[in-house]
Amino acid sequence: MVLKEYSPYLEYKDGALHFDGVNLLKLAKEVGTPVYVYSANHIRDQIRAYKKAFLDALIAYAVKANFNLGVIKIAAEEGCGADTVSGGEIYRALKGGIPADKIVYAGVGKTDQELLFALEEDILMFNAESEMEIEVLNELAKSKGKKARIAVRVNPDVDPKTHPKIATGLKKSKFGIDIHKALEVYKRASSLPNIEVVGIHCHIGSQLLDLSPFGEAVEKIVDLYKRLKAEGIDIKYIDIGGGLGIKYKPEDRVPTPQDLADIVLPKLKGVEAQLILEPGRSIAGNGGILITQVQFLKEKDDKLFVIVDAGFNDLLRPAMYGSYHHIVSVREGKEKVVCDIVGPICETGDILGENREICKVERKDYLAILSAGAYGFVMSSHYNMRPRAAEVIVENGSYKVTRPRENWDYIIWEETP
Ligand SMILES: *Cc1c(COP(=O)(O)O)cnc(C)c1O
Repeated sequence: MVLKEYSPYLEYKDGALHFDGVNLLKLAKEVGTPVYVYSANHIRDQIRAYKKAFLDALIAYAVKANFNLGVIKIAAEEGCGADTVSGGEIYRALKGGIPADKIVYAGVGKTDQELLFALEEDILMFNAESEMEIEVLNELAKSKGKKARIAVRVNPDVDPKTHPKIATGLKKSKFGIDIHKALEVYKRASSLPNIEVVGIHCHIGSQLLDLSPFGEAVEKIVDLYKRLKAEGIDIKYIDIGGGLGIKYKPEDRVPTPQDLADIVLPKLKGVEAQLILEPGRSIAGNGGILITQVQFLKEKDDKLFVIVDAGFNDLLRPAMYGSYHHIVSVREGKEKVVCDIVGPICETGDILGENREICKVERKDYLAILSAGAYGFVMSSHYNMRPRAAEVIVENGSYKVTRPRENWDYIIWEETP
């Protein structure tokens, strides 16, 4: 059954979809909708698969994929570090129990306030994205009487063969420093008194299903590593970023952390640096679903619209990237219909699924949108004054609301009329 390929914890039982042992019909009735549901066991299994494939590596979970504190707590319990892209994410990672000495920090536009916060917390490594950033960090570290550990984020100019909006390792993208310029940047950085050069960082893109670009990028990094060594610049960490793809379409064939290790590890033979990985999507993506309730059915021009209570304010990916998310009915049924599943937002682009075959649904039935555990809730907004969804973690048959649903007053709490 295809459902199992999304998550082994997803199954129909007693006529209802279950996730990590929890009956989702019951959950939706008790917690309301829209609701994001994350399987703790699925997330743990993914982290363990990385740890098993990359024995000595630091797995720095990319919290931007899903920064729910309950999810971060699971990552912390499993021994993960965190990859962060803002001061706020560092703050959250720490709150979720991830120790500062396992936190790395990337991002092209770090503010002074964010850099100072990260310095105070003494994080493991700044993944610097420009020469100017390194100079500024040196000054700020000096003002604090500290030394900032940095990696230079290099842009290896490889094509990750993914969606253009999530390709980051191409020459034309805003990320990182051109790998051909890197040696000069490293030399300059090493000469700065309040900078300690410790690593090389790259992150080539997201949702990679073909792993050959990883091999290409790692070869280029190892080459740089050797050139740096010859210059007397000692590299302690090689951070190859995240990017492993997950299952969205039923026909997607998804690589595992072991597949990634098989490509990457042989190329790192003889390299005496600790490997860091920054997986986000592949940890949480298939471990999360979004449950939504059918509000109305409408037939128009021979087309059936199923109108649900989740929109692109809840799950932006279909509207933003044209992404496919598989959608199934929570109540098991035999009769099928073809329909468009659309949200309540007043925008034509608010379509969650087009031309989908699903079980025949009625008003108040529930649908589950799969592969929603990464870049789902974190991209949600209040557009149309819609409170953000609740978030729930399910594990071995019981559930816990880790973030309650917002209400109207919550959204306007800071406003003065
Ligand atoms: C987004 C991001 C990641 C995580 O990417 P995934 O595709 O979710 O694994 C890792 N590192 C950096 C620097 C990122 O920006």
